[in-house]
Amino acid sequence: MAYRFCPECGEQLEARTVDEQRLQACPKCGFVHYNNPRPCVGVLLVEGGKVLLVQRAVEPFKGYWDIPGGFLNSDEHPTEAARREMLEETGLAVVPTEVLGFWTDRYGEADYYTLSICYLAETAGGREKAGSDAVTMRWFPLDDLPEKIAFNWEREALELLRTRLSD
Ligand SMILES: [Zn+2]
Repeated sequence: MAYRFCPECGEQLEARTVDEQRLQACPKCGFVHYNNPRPCVGVLLVEGGKVLLVQRAVEPFKGYWDIPGGFLNSDEHPTEAARREMLEETGLAVVPTEVLGFWTDRYGEADYYTLSICYLAETAGGREKAGSDAVTMRWFPLDDLPEKIAFNWEREALELLRTRLSD
């Protein structure tokens, strides 16, 4: 994410190299915009060899298939974010059981990155109903996933999941 002005003092930001990274910094107050990756969660629910994906209602990748999940709220544990996002997007109450892995990825065409924590989970109630950033949802066989998967990290996570389940 590029900014023109310092969020601390309002001075115009300048490009500066810090720790070999090209960043924006404020010449007046010393503020540095590090542009760290933003934490996100994804949740993989698997039943009978099928995984639940949602179709995105919003950009980036509107209309593409997506692992349900989203950005963490300010003061939220990732596990709680996983439960909240699943309820919002799929109507299902879930219990995250383990972490499949972590991935860093660019957020579409945006100039910032995400750090996605991908959980495996089990259902604990609720009724399937797409909502929030999802227009619809569908169970896909792991060996017959849709072509249009939203983010690169999701293709890698789904491939890891498929490999693990076929062992
Ligand atoms: Zn400043």
